[in-house]
Amino acid sequence: MEPLDRRSFIVSAGAAGAALAAGSPAGAAQTSGAVFISTWKWGIPANARAAEVLGAGGSLLDAVEKGINAIEDDPNVDTVGYGGLPNAQGEVELDAGVMNGTTHRAGSVCNLHKIKNPISVARLVMEKTRHTTMAGEGALQFAIAMGFEPMQLLTPKSLEAWLKWKNTPNHQTFWIDKDHHDTIGMLATDGNGHVVAGCSTSGLAWKIPGRVADSPLVGCGYYADDSAGAACATGNGDVMTNYCSSAYIVARMAEGAHPQEACDQLMRFMAKTAPDVTRGQYCVVALSAGGETGAASMNAAQPLQYALWRAGRGSLQTAPAYLR
Ligand code: ASP
Repeated sequence: MEPLDRRSFIVSAGAAGAALAAGSPAGAAQTSGAVFISTWKWGIPANARAAEVLGAGGSLLDAVEKGINAIEDDPNVDTVGYGGLPNAQGEVELDAGVMNGTTHRAGSVCNLHKIKNPISVARLVMEKTRHTTMAGEGALQFAIAMGFEPMQLLTPKSLEAWLKWKNTPNHQTFWIDKDHHDTIGMLATDGNGHVVAGCSTSGLAWKIPGRVADSPLVGCGYYADDSAGAACATGNGDVMTNYCSSAYIVARMAEGAHPQEACDQLMRFMAKTAPDVTRGQYCVVALSAGGETGAASMNAAQPLQYALWRAGRGSLQTAPAYLR
């Protein structure tokens, strides 16, 4: 695959890219209104729920938490929360993180078992402790102390999928390679320069127990800073962690880059330094504190769909791909 040159990349962004090229940024700033941008098609109901919470007088953090909860609670999303596909030992291991762009504080949990709403536990790590990240058994005990009820996170469907994988002779494992994953990542602004980022996932299906990738790590899976904007990542987190993708994008925005250009710069840097990214999912979304948006995926064969909510309307968009 050939990298797109700068011009083709912008043109491939379609209407958004055309607006950028014409000097009118994609998702032009509407500082008077809230904007939500979330990864994948379940971003549509997540954004709708977040907008409802904000509209009812909740804070932006409430909106992002509740929007993500809606996907964590959905047994049909097999990469997030309840019904998420388990690790190689058949245990659902959840990761999540959230960041408040005003206070520059984040909270996260990794390898959390038995609790279906890790984003809510992550928020409590941020708000109730001096810590940023809690993992494993300690994170579970913290959640229980905060009033969360442990439960079985396997659904009949995810148990069946795990048994099928387990009983397949010579099944692939991550000691070799395997690929089933996705995340709900959400970025939000209230229209007054405040941004929040959140991310929740069950990680890779059949992962080696104990594996942690980008989603719960601040700066990798998500990042928010009111002075610039917010970003989050989805895709192969084992690779993307090495790029601190979200902090990278927000840093470019802090230097003045439009969110689309900031996403574009990360793709360029990754394509240059990680030759094996020509296959697989490496995707990001970005939101400036002024409400401008950006999105990118590395490979056209593995496109990123993301949901955008603006001015009371939700839509599903496809991010421009860097390699085609
Ligand atoms: N980045 C997540 C992980 O590697 C999965 C995804 O977003 O697709 O755990």
